[in-house]
Amino acid sequence: MAPHPPAPDSHRPAPDAAGAAPDGRAVARAVAEAAREEQGGGRSLAAGIFLGRLWPAAVFPFPEQDPADRARAEPVLEAIERALREHLDPEEAERARTLPDAALKALFEAGAFRLKIPEAYGGLGFGQVNYCRAVAMVASWCNSAAIWMSGHQSIGLSTPLRLFGTPAQKAAYLPRLAGGALSAFALTEPEAGSDPARLRTRADPAPDGSGWILNGEKLWCTNGPVADLIVVMALTPPPPGAPPGRPRISAFIVETAWEGCSTGHRCDFAGYGAIHSGLLRFRDVRVPAGNLLWEEGQGLKLALITLNTGRLTLPATNTAVARQCLGIVRQWCARRVQWGAPIGAHEAVGAQVGWMAAQVFAMEAITDYAAGLVDRGGADVRLEAAIAKLFCSEAVFEVADRTLQLRGGRGYETAASLRARGEEPWPVERLWREARLNRIVEGTSEILRLFLAREALDPHLRRAGALLDPRAPRRARLWAGLRLAVTYPLWYLRRWIPDWRTPAGLPRGLRRRWRALERGTRRLARQVLYGMVRFGPGLEHRQMLLGRLVDEGVDLTVMAAVLVRAASRGYPASARLADLFCRTALARSRARRRTPVALDRAALALGREVLAGAHLDLEAGILAPAIAPAADPSPGR
Ligand SMILES: Cc1cc2nc3c(=O)[nH]c(=O)nc-3n(C[C@H](O)[C@H](O)[C@H](O)COP(=O)(O)OP(=O)(O)OC[C@H]3O[C@@H](n4cnc5c(N)ncnc54)[C@H](O)[C@@H]3O)c2cc1C
Repeated sequence: MAPHPPAPDSHRPAPDAAGAAPDGRAVARAVAEAAREEQGGGRSLAAGIFLGRLWPAAVFPFPEQDPADRARAEPVLEAIERALREHLDPEEAERARTLPDAALKALFEAGAFRLKIPEAYGGLGFGQVNYCRAVAMVASWCNSAAIWMSGHQSIGLSTPLRLFGTPAQKAAYLPRLAGGALSAFALTEPEAGSDPARLRTRADPAPDGSGWILNGEKLWCTNGPVADLIVVMALTPPPPGAPPGRPRISAFIVETAWEGCSTGHRCDFAGYGAIHSGLLRFRDVRVPAGNLLWEEGQGLKLALITLNTGRLTLPATNTAVARQCLGIVRQWCARRVQWGAPIGAHEAVGAQVGWMAAQVFAMEAITDYAAGLVDRGGADVRLEAAIAKLFCSEAVFEVADRTLQLRGGRGYETAASLRARGEEPWPVERLWREARLNRIVEGTSEILRLFLAREALDPHLRRAGALLDPRAPRRARLWAGLRLAVTYPLWYLRRWIPDWRTPAGLPRGLRRRWRALERGTRRLARQVLYGMVRFGPGLEHRQMLLGRLVDEGVDLTVMAAVLVRAASRGYPASARLADLFCRTALARSRARRRTPVALDRAALALGREVLAGAHLDLEAGILAPAIAPAADPSPGR
């Protein structure tokens, strides 16, 4: 569960606004830009939407799973389910702060930890959809167990190894991973969260030329305290003649049994009590030369590419949790009688149940869409994966929060306490605590918005190129200006021309929604352009405005997935779910468009005053905890 650094525009350094050194920002930007992947593969639905184009070929047909592929996974899923039911009590695991050995053994035997490893190396060779199905099923039983699995194979060593490992590295490590060795992914450090330019862990060439000497600390490394193999991102020396101050990040396969590797602290969180995540220390660890993954300087890119598909696991587990919440709410709201009727019969409750069902349908549609694209191959899924992650992680928390509210006091009570007094032990408070993490890991919501904004602006930035770069020669800027003056009027005009076609197979009742989506898509592209014209390169600093544009693009992309899924299902119930989601998203869109930029400015100005120490009276009368010296009582590995 790692971050996804933004890749904001690199055309000019930002003025210092809130205390950060301007060169720090420029370096962060340069690092992110250097690791940014260029658009590749086929046309992306989301990229088209930000450009005002609904490309039918990118959406149709919905990448539904091949029934044979689905059937292939069934026996494995059944074995995993048996392992969970027979050996894992999620509440007990949380109390014990770990998964029981019997459960781990049973899950390993069922194949849960080698799902994505190619068959040639002893794995099951699952595609993305089957993998997501398996992890989602596990999450619906015990979310901590799903984190063990995904820390190991969504972002853990097996994924970068499959993508970038040499034949020798694959032969050495993939069979070990398939055979029970646990892995982890270590990018985050105490000073480097979403900004990898602040990495301090170093790998220096060993004086005897045998490899590297690794020193540093990694924070919140999921599975780290119990892992055998970790992919570690570290700074390596710049090549001769490289521009100064530009960190060079490389990735290494590290075996935790090596001398110098230790766990400094096992962290405790609001939820996921049974995961092991901690502060890892590397002190003069000797890493053989053959354990450099990909090439020197490609470590951040490797991390980001790993995350492109790695982050599809969270939408799948989020959807599973949202389904679980819906199931609880459905039963509870029909049964609980207050004020003379089942609570679901009261308008304020019943409408929420409907909202929740539509939300689950949308989460499922965008998750299956993105995962299906991966299995279909040939598509650039970076935007769809980021959108699925952003949308589902926001949605699951709201679904869990509303579920807690509808359960009333029982929502806030633990499952164990409910069970002890003879009530249904629905673990809503645990689901709610766990749901909150998703907006932070594998790209915080803010950082994903910046990433999506960068990608949305990219075609314009590439066209405008020299015009936005104050360092470009005057001639080049003039040419760029002329080029834009010729191409943009037509581009803009086209964003006013409706496309009346609706996809074949779309239920009649949903055609209006499709047309609203098409209109919204063109409107979004125009708004992006207005932003560029109004703020120029300064648009990259208008995070609130960009955030709204991105949220609009996210809603439109999810709407497209929802409508296409409804068309592919083709029965009336899907159409009603899709219809409600679209209408809700369109209402959000209207509210967003009414938000004045002046409101952003006012909030920012006040925020700066607070950060500068004004309004301290607002904090009067509180007792703040003292910061204790760093005594570490937790045991190591
Ligand atoms: C339980 C858990 C498991 C984890 N597992 C792993 C793991 O296995 N491997 C790993 O490498 N990491 C892991 N992480 C780390 C996780 O990915 C980071 O917490 C995340 O990247 C955010 O970094 P940070 O917490 O340091 O927040 P910061 O980067 O300090 O950000 C703090 C806040 O500021 C916002 N912010 C930061 N920069 C900007 C900006 N430019 N513009 C606008 N807003 C901004 C952020 O969105 C956030 O809200 C884990 C974390 C947790 C809690």
